[in-house]
Amino acid sequence: MTKSEPRDRSGDAAYAANYFQKEYGHFIGGTWVQGASGERIPMINPANGQILSYIQSGNAEDARRAVDAAAQAFPSWSQTPRSERQRILYEMARRLRARMADYAMMDCLDNGKPAMEAMHFDLPMAIEQFEIFSGAPWFLHGQSIDAPNTLGIVLREPLGVVAQIIPWNVPLIMMAAKLAPALAAGNTVVLKPSEIVCLSVLEFFREMADLLPPGVVNVVTGYGPSVGEALVTHPKVRKVAFTGSRPTAQKLMQYASVNIIPQTMELGGKSANIVCEDADLDAAAEGAAMSTVLNKGEVCLAGSRVFVHEKVKDVFLDKFTSLLKRVKAGDPREPTTQIGPQVSRTQYDKIMGYLELGQQEGAKLAAGGRKATPAGFEDGLFIEPTVFFDVDNSMRIAQEEIFGPVSCVIGFRDDEEVVRMANDSVYGLGGGLWTRDLSRAHRIARGLETGTVWVNRYYNFLGGMPVGGYKQSGFGREFAAEVMNHYTLTKSVIVNLAEGPIGVFGQQ
Ligand code: NAD
Repeated sequence: MTKSEPRDRSGDAAYAANYFQKEYGHFIGGTWVQGASGERIPMINPANGQILSYIQSGNAEDARRAVDAAAQAFPSWSQTPRSERQRILYEMARRLRARMADYAMMDCLDNGKPAMEAMHFDLPMAIEQFEIFSGAPWFLHGQSIDAPNTLGIVLREPLGVVAQIIPWNVPLIMMAAKLAPALAAGNTVVLKPSEIVCLSVLEFFREMADLLPPGVVNVVTGYGPSVGEALVTHPKVRKVAFTGSRPTAQKLMQYASVNIIPQTMELGGKSANIVCEDADLDAAAEGAAMSTVLNKGEVCLAGSRVFVHEKVKDVFLDKFTSLLKRVKAGDPREPTTQIGPQVSRTQYDKIMGYLELGQQEGAKLAAGGRKATPAGFEDGLFIEPTVFFDVDNSMRIAQEEIFGPVSCVIGFRDDEEVVRMANDSVYGLGGGLWTRDLSRAHRIARGLETGTVWVNRYYNFLGGMPVGGYKQSGFGREFAAEVMNHYTLTKSVIVNLAEGPIGVFGQQ
């Protein structure tokens, strides 16, 4: 799948050349190498269809080479002093921070997200992951348990080679959240970024290559099925960490069953954003609008089901839609642009399909519902921020992840009803809650089957807090100290301090 029909725009090509190479290899064993297939994938700017660069279309042979390189690097990397692992991770954070604007522009061109948004959202979160986990090597130590004549020592050891597979929506955040803890714990990595957006990730490794001993991190690009099975079923791979869609997760779990390796799965969502009648409605409307528009709605944690108390539904809807109608679509490079194009033609078509489906299901449009055509980007993959109302929670638009700038407003009458409806979903990833009543907030939050609940501010990320799913939004947690459990194994060493036989067979 490519992102849209490629089109040559020579002026734009000169601009893209400021950021990207013409072509990227795989990064294996510390060098950039051609893929075994000899095939390439064009990387397309979704705002205008321009080809930005080419990546290798990887295959099983490339995956095996990368795993072998990671396996070779493991014995030495796992013994690297803690201070050195810390220095490397912190230096990655420092270098990313020093070139934030460049990396933001790379994701802007490749993904279509507004550059300003990448500066204020993606980059700080990615940098923070390296900063947080640069300290982790020092806290990764075992434990001892004392007993009469016995000393128990719990050693904490890295797993070995880990496979990490990430999506296209927030590539630098996904890369950092996986790479930093894995390296801090002493593992080596084969990373498979998305074939839809991955140029910022590849540029990251061009810049960081000198920091890493060869083979500690290897990057194989290409289509998932061509690389994924060989990667995950390789006998030297000891874990797979995945972020992406549910259908891919199901395949990966089958691959992982071949060698019985552990998995962490960060999957999709259809999160509930609950607005109570006593909420600050201006703040709640702003939060709901931000959740609809951030990264063009291509966010796993988006609060795309907005449950609003019947008493305030009309007032809220008014405020919510009037904010969305003011959202400025346009050139994602411009600082004033608030929403860019969807990432790919496939994604665009999928979202447009849901806009039609919603109306067929009987929901009504309060805002948007059409292609957006900002001046100069009439052919870009833009969609108007869209709100459906009169939605029933059982409709497909309320149950399926649309992954676009589309929210459904659903009325509720009491807390019990809204908790029941919020939980009536196969997903459970994020969610919001707006009320001035603190006890009520805690009661509702406890009732929700979801990994994160933001009270009175949506997308209020707090460094060090775990992120992860309930139900089919996945399992395992990232972004917090507990992820280190997913990248280490414990070994119990139990030492007998007494002398001589214990006398099981009588006196000798
Ligand atoms: P996707 O599942 O299509 O692809 C994700 C990655 O998996 C890509 O690198 C892809 O090449 C690879 N892949 C695809 N098929 C594969 C296979 N058979 N074997 C191995 N790898 C394979 O998902 P996407 O479209 O890139 O991302 C969107 C999805 O990601 C959404 O569902 C979104 O909710 C989810 N997501 C979740 C989180 C989270 O933290 N929970 C964060 C971001 C995105």
